[in-house]
Amino acid sequence: KLKAKIMDAKAINRSVTRLSHEIIEKNKGVSNIVLFGIHTRGIPLAKRIASKIKEIEDVDVIVDSLDITLYRDDLSKINDNPIINKRVASININDKDVVLIDDVIFTGRTVRAAMDALIDMGRPKTIQLAVLVDRGHRELPIRPDFIGKNVPTSRKEIISVKFDETDNENEVVIYEK
Ligand code: 5GP
Ligand code: MG
Repeated sequence: KLKAKIMDAKAINRSVTRLSHEIIEKNKGVSNIVLFGIHTRGIPLAKRIASKIKEIEDVDVIVDSLDITLYRDDLSKINDNPIINKRVASININDKDVVLIDDVIFTGRTVRAAMDALIDMGRPKTIQLAVLVDRGHRELPIRPDFIGKNVPTSRKEIISVKFDETDNENEVVIYEK
C-alpha cells in the first residue's frame, strides 16, 4: 500500500548533486577516489554521481561495482547473510579512497559484506559510504558518511527507489507491506 512519495526526479537530482559536492569536499578533490556501486540500484546511483563529479571537477572517476547474491533487493528479504560474489579486483584499490554507494541502507549487513569484499581485494586508504536513503534500523555499527535523505521508517514499511536506468522512472516512495 502506497503511503507517500518522498522524492521526485528533481529531488533525486538535487540529492545527487549535493552528495557529489560533499564527496569532493571531504576528499579535497577526486584525484584519489574510486566509486563502488552495490548491485542493482547502487550502480546507476554511482554512475550519476560520477557524471556529476565530471561536470563539477572535469575529472573521470573510476566506477566499479559489487554484486550481492541471495540477498534482499528492495522489496523482499531472501537471506539474512548478504554474500558478495567473490571476484578478482578489476581495479587496484590499494591506497585509494573508496566510496561505496547504495540506494538504501537498512540493517547495514550489505555494507558490512561489501567492506569485507573490498578488504579482500586490497588495502584501501579509506572506505566511505554514500546512500540515497537511510531508513534506519541499523543492526551493526555502520553509519553513512553521505546521506541523500534520512527517512525514518517502521520495519513494516519499504522504500521503493526507482531510477530511469533500471525502472523507467525516477522516484522514491514509501510503501506499507
Ligand atoms: P541492509 O543490508 O542494510 O539491511 O539492506 C540494504 C540493502 O538492501 C541495499 O542494497 C538496499 O538496496 C536493500 N534494501 C533494504 N531495505 C530496503 C528498502 O526498504 N528499499 C529498497 N529499495 N532497498 C532496500
Ligand atoms: Mg540493493
